Amino acid sequence: MELRLEGKVAIVTGAASGLGRAIAEKYASSGANVVIADLNQDSASEVAKEITEKNGVTALGVAMDVTSEEQVNAGVQKVAQDLGNVDVLVSNAGVQIIAPIVEFEYEAWKRLLDIHINGTFLTTKACMQQMIKSGLGGSIIVMGSIHSVEASMNKSAYVTAKHGLLGFTRAIAKEGAKHNIRANLIGPGFVRTPLVEKQIPEQAKTLGISEEEVVKKVMLGNTVTGEFTTLDDIATLALMFAAFPTDVLTGQSMLATHGWHME
Ligand code: NAD
Repeated sequence: MELRLEGKVAIVTGAASGLGRAIAEKYASSGANVVIADLNQDSASEVAKEITEKNGVTALGVAMDVTSEEQVNAGVQKVAQDLGNVDVLVSNAGVQIIAPIVEFEYEAWKRLLDIHINGTFLTTKACMQQMIKSGLGGSIIVMGSIHSVEASMNKSAYVTAKHGLLGFTRAIAKEGAKHNIRANLIGPGFVRTPLVEKQIPEQAKTLGISEEEVVKKVMLGNTVTGEFTTLDDIATLALMFAAFPTDVLTGQSMLATHGWHME
């Protein structure tokens, strides 16, 4: 069965880079009009332009810091006005900060939780309001991680945030059901995006091992095949959750980790 999103409107946060961009591209190639929501207007517009040229759909770049209630609400309202509706939200924007708990700066801890947890809350709230107003419901996809179910050294804030998002996804599924809103979480293993490339030397320094060892032991050591998850693996799963033809899938988490975590 081919899953399509013809005519649907999907907002993807953090879509100027990495996984968010790959998901926006996959959605556009499946017929959706997409919104590239990211911190910087120029890079969001640039990605939107490339997606429109390649796929012939409408793509809109929107400057949105997901931690700003004002920017989130204004952005979602603009999308509803310009594109007619919001059918899909992918709450994907995120950062990584690596440090042992005893050295973790409180400001850094709060910033990470703000982006992942509060950002997902604010974007979900605004999009749910729109989905309820339209009467059409929708699909909310939360970007979790292997760290939604496992812990790693020196990633305490990230592990806390990603575990929290698993609970929040289930809460959305409960409250969204009567409005025909589904919510699911995707949990990738390591994918070679800028977020991960940056971590390799940082982890090597913090753990006192070589960069090769970080990749082989820390990042891929717990997988059964020693492989990175790919951008397309995750974009394909995000398409499945957005376009699945019934409401059977809600409150679920799909971990895509080459067997690092087995359920
Ligand atoms: P990335 O650094 O390539 O992209 C992240 C994007 O988020 C950037 O474009 C950045 O500008 C944007 N962003 C950051 N803060 C923002 C804010 N406050 N408001 C709006 N946008 C903001 O990273 P990525 O690897 O593509 O990560 C995307 C998501 O996937 C994150 O939630 C991350 O935790 C998750 N994830 C990544 C991996 C991986 O291995 N790469 C694994 C599991 C989960």
